[in-house]
This record gives sequence, structure tokens and C-alpha cells, in this order.
Amino acid sequence: MADVAALDRLRTTALACTRCPLAEGRTQVVFGVGNPEADLLFVGEGPGREEDLAGEPFVGRSGKLLDRLMWEELGLTRGECYIANVVKCRPPNNRDPAPAEIESCRPYLEEQIQLIDPSVIVTLGNFATKLLLASPRGIRELRGQVFERGGRHLVPTYHPAYVLRGGGEAMAEMRADLVRAKRLLAGRS
Ligand code: URA
Repeated sequence: MADVAALDRLRTTALACTRCPLAEGRTQVVFGVGNPEADLLFVGEGPGREEDLAGEPFVGRSGKLLDRLMWEELGLTRGECYIANVVKCRPPNNRDPAPAEIESCRPYLEEQIQLIDPSVIVTLGNFATKLLLASPRGIRELRGQVFERGGRHLVPTYHPAYVLRGGGEAMAEMRADLVRAKRLLAGRS
């Protein structure tokens, strides 16, 4: 069962975090958004410029696509699921998060997972997928499958930024992954 009060306390702690150098360059900590009792959790990579300014994950072009696919394939809005990232602060110039930054931030994500207690996690792209599956394998190899992680289903899919670049085939594959998540949410596999 979700623990909304503890998630709120965790957010307060995260908003003041200085565990890694990303704290110096951020405008805002981007903790997460959505229903704290959601059954479905999306995990992205880290905030970009627009997210850093807004304090909310996936508000730029990638986010618009995520919102659209979430609605079209799952019938859900961002307020009905929960969206978080591997790192909560924007890496400068949108570079990849460094391994040490990911490790510093990881306890927040692990605690978010425990406190929200979703039955299905959809990882968006390589960073979230490799971290949560502890796998060196890339997203192209891992997507299309369902994994078990600590009693939850984990469905890896592409990052929406990749789909924006990759076009039709990547989009169709991401849609298929979301349908997979929908079946799991409905108790069907
Ligand atoms: N990309 C991500 O991985 N997360 C965001 O919040 C925005 C873009």
C-alpha cells in the first residue's frame, strides 16, 4: 500500500538535496508528478531545461509524446499515474547523468518505488532500464519483454526522445510496450 505522507516527507528532503554536484546547476529539484497511489510508475532519465524550470518531469516535447501515448494506449493522464526520473536534477547541457550522480540519487528513486508501491513500472530508455534491472544490456535488447523486480512487473520501453527521432517503427514498438503494461495493470499477462 502506498504511503503518501512518507512520500511527501521524501519530497521535502529531496528538494534540499546537495548529495551530488548536480545540485549546483539546478533551478529546481524535479522530484516527480502524479498520483502518489498510482498502480503505474514511469521512470525517465533526468530533467532537461524545461523540466528544470517547471519543476515537473516530462513537460517538453518528449513529455507531450509521453502524455499522448499514455492516453492513447493506456487511457491514462499523467495525474493518474506517477512519473519520476533516475536523477532529480538537470545535468548541465543535457549531458548524460554520470554514474556517481546516478548512485547518489538512486535512494530517492528506490524509496519512491517502495512508497508509491506500483504493480507496474515502465522504464523509459537505457538509464532507467539498466539501473532498475541491474543489466548492462541496452534497451533495444530488453524492450518487448516483461521482467519481475521485487514483486512488481517491469516493462522496459524506449525513451520518448528516441521515438521522436526514430519515427514509425520505434513508435509502434513503444505503443506495443504500453499495451503490455496495460494488460499487466488489468491483471492479464
Ligand atoms: N527526459 C527525461 O528523461 N525526463 C524528463 O523529465 C524530461 C526529459
